[in-house]
Amino acid sequence: MLSFRYVGICCVLLGSLTSGCDASRGSSASSPADSQTAQAQASPQSSPASHAEPVGPALRIDPSRAWQYLKEILALGPRWDGSPGQEKLGAYLHAKLKNDHVEEDTFTAQTPAGPIKMRNLIAKFPGSKDGIIVLGSHIDTNYPLRNTSFVGANDGGSSTALLLAIADQLRGKKLEGYSVWLAFFDGEESIPSTTPGDLRWSDPDALYGSRHLAQKWQQDGTSKKIKALLLADMIGDKDLDILRDTSSSAWLEDLIGEAASRLGYQSYFFQEETGMGGDDHIPFAKIGVPVADLIDFTYGYNNAFHHTTQDTIDKLSAKSLQITGDVILETIRLINGRKDQTASAAHKPPTQERKTS
Ligand SMILES: [Zn+2]
Repeated sequence: MLSFRYVGICCVLLGSLTSGCDASRGSSASSPADSQTAQAQASPQSSPASHAEPVGPALRIDPSRAWQYLKEILALGPRWDGSPGQEKLGAYLHAKLKNDHVEEDTFTAQTPAGPIKMRNLIAKFPGSKDGIIVLGSHIDTNYPLRNTSFVGANDGGSSTALLLAIADQLRGKKLEGYSVWLAFFDGEESIPSTTPGDLRWSDPDALYGSRHLAQKWQQDGTSKKIKALLLADMIGDKDLDILRDTSSSAWLEDLIGEAASRLGYQSYFFQEETGMGGDDHIPFAKIGVPVADLIDFTYGYNNAFHHTTQDTIDKLSAKSLQITGDVILETIRLINGRKDQTASAAHKPPTQERKTS
């Protein structure tokens, strides 16, 4: 559901008009029907956690390199779709991944602001087992704030840097287990229109890149091979508090919690629960891919730094990138050690929809 993030954006952008709206704390306030589908799919009965034994060597990111990537990305300037910074970021990602197998998924998004060219990048690292684990991040920065100094250090920057740091650990080896694909999604942010002051967030006017790629992968059969999609978003906050997302697949959230506990990072995860309806995992959930959104939507008191020019690197830490990156890498090992029949169960469409509160 759109709802939680939607509520959050309402609070940030329309704060003066909204009362009693708590952006950083969890209950869902609205839920379009399509988001209920994703939520229902994630319902606990779909399949329990497996207590899988990890497969393959333990991989850990290099936090100083992740931090360096973040600084380099931010130095490119604002990276909203159509901006010079976004163009530079594409070239930057290609340069960092030049020795990897990278594919582009280009398209023209029809937005309320007119047609905008977009491109998702997918870096593929082969594994020994048939199946794919996708790690995702959005690469664009907020469009309505394009005429401000907004750089999206946490929102767009942190998770993109993290994927590059993860690529460093996947490169040059045959992975034990499923292939890992890194998906750099374009067009996550809402592009409402060019009308000054139009800050609406609406479902069809955002998630352009992930919707496009989900549709493509559904049509070419790739989606059936995806065992899990782990999305990272806003994971650089110094005060890291990744929420348990009720619109994600429950078994996958359980596995992330298990991975965090194995590394001693459990206090950074799932202290609170929420529903992230408006993020890049949703288009994949809708086509039956097991998904998990790793997001800290408590960025500053009451999520106050989200979608403001205060989203700057001084609020972030290399340690938070490390925690998230290592938990993702550990989760991959657990997914690889999991019995496959539960994963296939999670591909089934939901039989029952659950209403949000
Ligand atoms: Zn954003």
